[in-house]
Amino acid sequence: MIEFTEVSKIYRVAKRQAGMKNAVKSFFSRQYNTVHALQNVSFSIRDGEMVGYIGPNGAGKSTTIKIMCGVLTPESGTCMINGRVPYKERVAHVRDIGVVFGQRSQLWWDVPVIDSFDLIRDIYRVDEKTYRKNVSELADLLDLGEILQTPVRTLSLGQRMRCEIAASLLHNPKVLFLDEPTIGLDAVSKLAVRKFIRELNEKKGTTIVLTTHDMQDIEALTERVLLIGRGRILLDGKLDDLKKHISERKTMVIQYQGNPPILMKEMTQTESSQGRMKVSFDPGEISVSGAIAYFAANTELLDVSVADISTEEMVAELYKEYRL
Ligand code: ADP
Repeated sequence: MIEFTEVSKIYRVAKRQAGMKNAVKSFFSRQYNTVHALQNVSFSIRDGEMVGYIGPNGAGKSTTIKIMCGVLTPESGTCMINGRVPYKERVAHVRDIGVVFGQRSQLWWDVPVIDSFDLIRDIYRVDEKTYRKNVSELADLLDLGEILQTPVRTLSLGQRMRCEIAASLLHNPKVLFLDEPTIGLDAVSKLAVRKFIRELNEKKGTTIVLTTHDMQDIEALTERVLLIGRGRILLDGKLDDLKKHISERKTMVIQYQGNPPILMKEMTQTESSQGRMKVSFDPGEISVSGAIAYFAANTELLDVSVADISTEEMVAELYKEYRL
């Protein structure tokens, strides 16, 4: 269980003005700006849940993760994870958590991956039997094979990311923090990483907090989404409910031959290319069957499909709504 209660975090940044004189002046009397990175943030995440933590740059996501990892202490409020306060009981706490930062590596660059794993085993004092079992299981599931004997610096990004994920799980953590785990990966590697994360959550019940700008990660992995903006939690709910909150509108993609259709006045065109058009409308104004009938009567229709608003569109709308 992860519980945030009214957590606030402030950074103090020394004011600097240009020029030597000001540098000397500020050395003797420092002035500070304060940044309210988190303001009364409260949420709870149950054991075994997989939650997407989203928000624009500077919203406060990393600060939240750092508090959950025990790296930062909040000014006020409390964070409890599995009955412990991370920043007060760091040593015990880190045994319970795994962390993967897509942009940073926890593996040693010049040595074979397995040597890094051995070091991690020693740091976390994982017993030999558990370690062997985990390495062999993870190597199997993440298709590590010969990669384990290869120095990290020669791996592709996709291979390295699979190793990073394995490294974070060698000590059987109950909670895993993933920060942009698919950033920069090619399509095949993305799918492999997502599949693994889903199975880890389903089979082992690992609690997962996923920070990402990739809405396909969110779509593929999480049911629940927390939206943070300017240090405050703005929304907390199921992805489907968020979509409904943003828009009940339906999106219809039609493919046609000949002239493009003239739209009904209640319809908005959102995309258009040769022989293909995407329109949106409010199903309260036009029924889906009514729209299909309209196009069938007025266009040489080849194909039609109906979709809800995409997750990307939803997030863009949310950012607009909350002026983020
Ligand atoms: P995110 O991860 O969502 O991009 P962060 O948690 O990194 O957001 O940042 C939240 C706010 O705190 C931003 O305004 C950022 O500039 C500020 N901030 C983050 N780290 C520091 C720091 N070490 N010193 C001063 N300000 C910081």
